[in-house]
Amino acid sequence: MTSTAGRPYLIAVVGAGPSGIYAAEALVQQTDVPVEVVVIDRLPTPFGLVRYGVAPDHPSIRSIRNTLERTLERSGVRFLGDVVVGRDLTVEELRARTDAVVYAYGSGTDQRLGVPGEDLDGSVAAPELVAWYCGHPDVHPDDPAVAGADVPGTARSGLTTAEIEQLITTTRSAVVIGVGNVALDVARVLIKSADDLADTDMADEVLDGLDRSTVTDVHLVGRRGPAYTAFTTKELRELGELDVDLVLDPSDFVLDASSEAVLAVEKVAARNVTVMRGWLDRPRTGARRRIHLHFWRRPVALHAADGDRVSSVELESTGLDADGRVRGTGAFSRIPAELVVRSVGYRGVELPGVPYDASTGRVPHAEGRVIRDGAFAPGEYVTGWIKRGPTGVIGTNKHDAVETVTALLADLAAGTQAPQHDLRELTELLEGRGVHPLGMPAWHRIDAAEIERGVSHGRPRSTLVHRSELLAAAEEGAEHPEVAGRMADRR
Ligand SMILES: Cc1cc2nc3c(=O)[nH]c(=O)nc-3n(C[C@H](O)[C@H](O)[C@H](O)COP(=O)(O)OP(=O)(O)OC[C@H]3O[C@@H](n4cnc5c(N)ncnc54)[C@H](O)[C@@H]3O)c2cc1C
Repeated sequence: MTSTAGRPYLIAVVGAGPSGIYAAEALVQQTDVPVEVVVIDRLPTPFGLVRYGVAPDHPSIRSIRNTLERTLERSGVRFLGDVVVGRDLTVEELRARTDAVVYAYGSGTDQRLGVPGEDLDGSVAAPELVAWYCGHPDVHPDDPAVAGADVPGTARSGLTTAEIEQLITTTRSAVVIGVGNVALDVARVLIKSADDLADTDMADEVLDGLDRSTVTDVHLVGRRGPAYTAFTTKELRELGELDVDLVLDPSDFVLDASSEAVLAVEKVAARNVTVMRGWLDRPRTGARRRIHLHFWRRPVALHAADGDRVSSVELESTGLDADGRVRGTGAFSRIPAELVVRSVGYRGVELPGVPYDASTGRVPHAEGRVIRDGAFAPGEYVTGWIKRGPTGVIGTNKHDAVETVTALLADLAAGTQAPQHDLRELTELLEGRGVHPLGMPAWHRIDAAEIERGVSHGRPRSTLVHRSELLAAAEEGAEHPEVAGRMADRR
């Protein structure tokens, strides 16, 4: 490795979610190879799904952002918010102005069910609903007439906040397809009262929408049995602490040999089944709201009684074939539902200029080195969900980023190329196009404005949801004395 007059290598990270920030951390906490890291995000705010995915009623997990924030503040790291790679500058332009690029842009869309009726009104993807209740600006456009955002690396169906509010204020029964933690988050948020959510950082307008919700029943549907859920036990137990009746079918808990075999080796699965069995014996309280858990059923169609609005989900009972694959038994049933939430996984989207494997929804790679046309692409790396798919917990991204950065640093150390680029090349290109990136001072002003808004409503924080509000706060900041105190406490 040679270095030009002590100049560091300029590394761009595309995406300021956990994986991008962990990559920045791994890059700057080593001293063998001098680096400067620029973390670019299409949103004015950093933290990816920690801000726009993790459930607002899980504040301790959301507080991971304090740790991520410290990395973005480190010397040698620059955050460039509100810059869309693929629109404000192309991937080629970015590569031409940096010594290496790490793609960390996550999984921007949802998996489809592939059943008739999936596109009826009232059928929504979990990412859409999650983005709404977390206050993502894509789902809260400045202009209510403009649905969603057309941004490279993402794909949304384009529901607006008004449409989602309209759905939840005209739904009694909601079906959530899927038995993972995201399905639990969605079920919890739909069934909790707005009062229960008031001490979160949800936006005031989202709370207002939830306050008018008419949902009384949420049905969770899994195509396999209770031994095969992807829940973590802590999240599952939370359902038992809600002021709702839990409705389960005891026959689902008469386990077949394959389920027993799973429980014998999978500790989490065994704990989950124990938790759910405990609920079978709980007397119903006559609570106003219920969560129903259905197993061994798969959706085969969404129906509309009249018009275009979903009114029921048709399910087929299932079992396993000799190879352990789910098969339909030919017995059908229906659950009435005016809202159907597909929670069967996230999926990476192609970012123009970056290799993409459509069969997996990921960037092809080996140990984080991007593979382009069958060979390693010099200077291109990948980490996080767009590398391995939407799996694991936030901490998984740290190991993942370390693997990628290890490969990147090894390549720089083994190569003969001196650092070629300076951050000015990048910022001048953007400024020349009228793109003014937001840095960490802007984030701190947004942060303060959100706390100020929350405090003025007796709440810990109220997320700003509109891009215009975020940009105004980034510019003007907040002066509330209590806000300053709270922010100082957090650091
Ligand atoms: C609903 C939900 C709840 C979750 N809850 C938990 C939980 O409770 N606990 C837990 O451990 N894990 C949880 N996770 C998982 C966790 O959020 C992920 O592991 C993690 O966020 C993945 O990190 P990432 O950086 O790969 O992707 P992301 O967090 O999605 O970050 C990607 C970033 O790239 C940016 N980007 C995309 N396209 C572009 C572009 N063209 N130009 C510039 N920037 C771009 C995005 O704006 C985003 O900020 C949850 C996930 C979801 C979906």
